[in-house]
Amino acid sequence: MTEDPTSIALVEDTRFQDHRAPAGHPERSERLVAVSRALEPYLEHLTRVAPRPAGDEEILRVHSPEHLEAITSSAGQSGTHFDADTFGSEDSFAVASLAAGSTVDLALRVAKREVRAGLSAIRPPGHHAENDHPMGFCLFNNVAIAARALQAELGLEKLMILDWDVHHGNGTQHSFEHDPTVLYVSTHQYPFYPGTGAFPEAGIGAGLGTTVNLPMPAGCGDAEYVGLLQRAVVPIARRFAPEMILVSCGFDAHRDDPLGGMQVSAAGYLAMAGLVRALARDVCQERLMYVLEGGYALSGLEEGTRAIMDGLVAPEPTYPGTPIPAPPGSTLQALIEAAAQVHGQRHPDFGAP
Ligand code: ZN
Repeated sequence: MTEDPTSIALVEDTRFQDHRAPAGHPERSERLVAVSRALEPYLEHLTRVAPRPAGDEEILRVHSPEHLEAITSSAGQSGTHFDADTFGSEDSFAVASLAAGSTVDLALRVAKREVRAGLSAIRPPGHHAENDHPMGFCLFNNVAIAARALQAELGLEKLMILDWDVHHGNGTQHSFEHDPTVLYVSTHQYPFYPGTGAFPEAGIGAGLGTTVNLPMPAGCGDAEYVGLLQRAVVPIARRFAPEMILVSCGFDAHRDDPLGGMQVSAAGYLAMAGLVRALARDVCQERLMYVLEGGYALSGLEEGTRAIMDGLVAPEPTYPGTPIPAPPGSTLQALIEAAAQVHGQRHPDFGAP
């Protein structure tokens, strides 16, 4: 590709459809057809980057050799089940390697300012994949591998991963919960799969405080998501001051999603995208990339993709105009209070819009 610091780099390729789901599985190839359709009006802003596989060294920064071997040795076999809902097909190792490698490649380009933002529209997703086993439709933890590459290859010191997938990113949390250099913030439905992500899970040892879980009851929508971003995520991110923000971008909190129980609308995703871009502008010279995670309604994937693209191509990033109100007795107020009990001492401005 030619370098263009005003363009948005995109990895999106039909090869990511070659990870073949069993019949009826929600993490299916058609998801990317929906994303591709949603991207059509934005092609003038996008610079397409060819996918490339991950090197073993890149994968082994996050996963054990046994994990890598388990995925590698599934190549060429149909009908692999790594667990009850995590499958592999003949080409899954190759596709998962492309997903991780391409996400690394985009992250490095964004960090080096060859482009101004990135969208890694890949599958399989990654945030449930643990150090030593695939899980929850995820084979390699794409976003974690990219974060480690940014540190190892470019020397970036502090990174933020914002995970707004409806599920908690257990694998990503576990990759960084001992590490104060990577701020992991997750909004997710709770209690829900995978069962982790309660408020008190706030990091371990030197990493205490740089894991921030914002578990939400089913039924939350735009007010809670945007309100938590404004009042919890923004103050924490400003204080942490990351050098780049990577969004683990699931669209399964969308109101049409068949797995999630949340109610986020297209307008909600647009507000979230605008807010994240404005945050990235303020704290890290707008170094921002989105990495696709879940999202199982084709309508949700399309609306969500358009929302993040609208957020990225707007002339100026904007915070949503007015702070979301959090009156006493509201779900948002209860969530802010619960999060403040864990994180408020470290963040005196926590809860303010
Ligand atoms: Zn999910």
